[in-house]
Amino acid sequence: MSLLLGSHVGLGGKDQYLGSVKEALSYGANVFMVYTGAPQNSFRKPVREMRIPEAIDLMRQNGIDPASVIVHAPYIVNLANPDPEKRAFAVSFLTEEVMRTSAMGAKTIVLHPGAHMKDGPEAGIERIADGVKKILAATASTDVAIALEGMAGKGTEVGRSFDELGLLLALIGPTPRVGVCFDTCHTHDAGYDVIDDFEATLDVYDKIVGVDRILVLHVNDSKNERGAHKDRHANIGFGQIGFAALSRIVHHPRFETIPKILETPYVPDETNPALGFPPYKFEIAMLRENAFDPDVMAKIRTQEAKEEVGD
Ligand code: FE
Ligand code: FE
Ligand code: ZN
Repeated sequence: MSLLLGSHVGLGGKDQYLGSVKEALSYGANVFMVYTGAPQNSFRKPVREMRIPEAIDLMRQNGIDPASVIVHAPYIVNLANPDPEKRAFAVSFLTEEVMRTSAMGAKTIVLHPGAHMKDGPEAGIERIADGVKKILAATASTDVAIALEGMAGKGTEVGRSFDELGLLLALIGPTPRVGVCFDTCHTHDAGYDVIDDFEATLDVYDKIVGVDRILVLHVNDSKNERGAHKDRHANIGFGQIGFAALSRIVHHPRFETIPKILETPYVPDETNPALGFPPYKFEIAMLRENAFDPDVMAKIRTQEAKEEVGD
């Protein structure tokens, strides 16, 4: 099977989901990730206006399996919020997101577990487990799985260690509808070694979380040193993790069937700070070939600049 590698892409405008597929194809991706609208808000278009059948047709014509597409939930909803009303809103919004994911023909939605704010990780983990169980019950007609993302540990984020993720999975209980998302930048920022001894880190992960629970890999370099708890993504080969370590992870035999998604930043246009160049076509090619191109930044800047989007 050819390496399942892509990036996050936009969804919006008149093309909607069809535009997401076009963008992914322009990067040479065979899998991709989308937010169903702006990641910073919870305004969403009705499913019938999302051009889903055309998007699925275009995927099939180009060898992309619609079921391998990853949806990312917006990061403003917080299942660990101490305020019960805000928690209830998060459950109902995420229930709709799971239904949208299913309508898109996708099977996996990535979710940041949440932030406990002041109440401590134990209370946060309990609230998140409770919220996830409610979402699963309300979406029992689907086979969409929630992938809880391991976090860098900034602020009061829950899921900042393998132990917290393991506890969360244990509290939710065994179900094929819940797995995890392994983000290389977050894992490095959380303090684990993904550079010199990835195998040992993966062994620890396997005992506490379970490698078989990984549904998605996020492939990002990190702007900060190991253990910094910062969560600032860098372009592949231009951060503290480096190209060799990231390529080794991408080509790891245990991840062969797992979609791998780049969430690296746009390369800024020095003459216009509002614009940036998407790096994904070039990063995907380098990783596929397992060959770092030292001139890649100059090549990325030869493209047409686009409005910058966040990660
Ligand atoms: Fe994420
Ligand atoms: Fe991520
Ligand atoms: Zn991140």
